[in-house]
Amino acid sequence: MKYFAPNSMDELKTLFQTNENGSVLAGGTDVLPRWQDNPKLKPDVLIDIKKIKELSGIRESENEIIIGPLTTVQEIKKSKIIQTEFSALTEAASQFGGVQICHRATIGGNICNASPAGDLLPGLYAHNANIGIMGPNGNRSMSISDFIIGVGKTALEKGEIVSEIHLPRKGEKSLFYKLGLRQSMAIAVVNFAIAYEKDNANNLKSLTIAAGSVAPTIVYLESLTNAIMNGENLDGAIQLVDEDISPIDDIRTSGAYRSTALKNVLKHTIKEIYVR
Ligand SMILES: Cc1cc2nc3c(=O)[nH]c(=O)nc-3n(C[C@H](O)[C@H](O)[C@H](O)COP(=O)(O)OP(=O)(O)OC[C@H]3O[C@@H](n4cnc5c(N)ncnc54)[C@H](O)[C@@H]3O)c2cc1C
Repeated sequence: MKYFAPNSMDELKTLFQTNENGSVLAGGTDVLPRWQDNPKLKPDVLIDIKKIKELSGIRESENEIIIGPLTTVQEIKKSKIIQTEFSALTEAASQFGGVQICHRATIGGNICNASPAGDLLPGLYAHNANIGIMGPNGNRSMSISDFIIGVGKTALEKGEIVSEIHLPRKGEKSLFYKLGLRQSMAIAVVNFAIAYEKDNANNLKSLTIAAGSVAPTIVYLESLTNAIMNGENLDGAIQLVDEDISPIDDIRTSGAYRSTALKNVLKHTIKEIYVR
């Protein structure tokens, strides 16, 4: 395997020109265990992007915050602005892996790994994140729901990387919930994030619910959301969750359990939002 560690975006572009099938390495917390399980997956060319400073850190403008893809889960957890305006991400980072993993794992890796159980993903969906992409044909961007197209599959083309994650500042509150088979170091059996805004009379002005581990990608629970916003009774409306999910049986649990658990915890959480 050839290994490269470019120091700048220009160096990275040049490298991709001669190694168009180069495989990107960030924190390596998904990639390295995968190679251990199956050494045949090791690429011929590995491009380690960690030295590229422009890809790290959190910036803010009037209308959005911009997160570099190399920003670690630990940095997300400690960020004041994320805690204040995108708390679903802070809560997800706080329930993420162990200390070593949090210092190593990046938000870009969590997005590009495109696992249905990725813990940062529901918060990014709920806050309508936009993914900035840089590649040989220039820059482009798309919503995270268009970017992730299946289990482990993204819209990235050869030589492209995620270069920025944009979060619009809309003043919504948000929260994250993760149900695992144990309290820590667990892959989510079900996870979800809710972003919402209330008016002075305590009515919901906006509501977005994104759930993970219940379909090949994170899904928006639109049927439930529409019913709630139309004033339907929550006890009945909660059954509409099944219209938007397609949970499967796997080694962790059954699809039926995932559906029941999601509905039970969601109902409880939505009721809590009204009293906040
Ligand atoms: C012990 C352990 C515990 C874990 N716990 C959790 C957990 O609680 N929750 C959770 O969601 N995940 C967990 N994970 C999975 C993993 O840590 C996360 O998915 C992490 O965010 C991956 O980031 P990374 O930087 O290590 O990615 P890497 O392993 O470096 O890369 C992952 C994939 O993304 C691609 N990639 C990375 N960055 C970019 C970029 N900027 N542009 C294009 N492609 C890119 C890589 O090519 C690769 O395909 C755990 C893993 C381990 C080993």
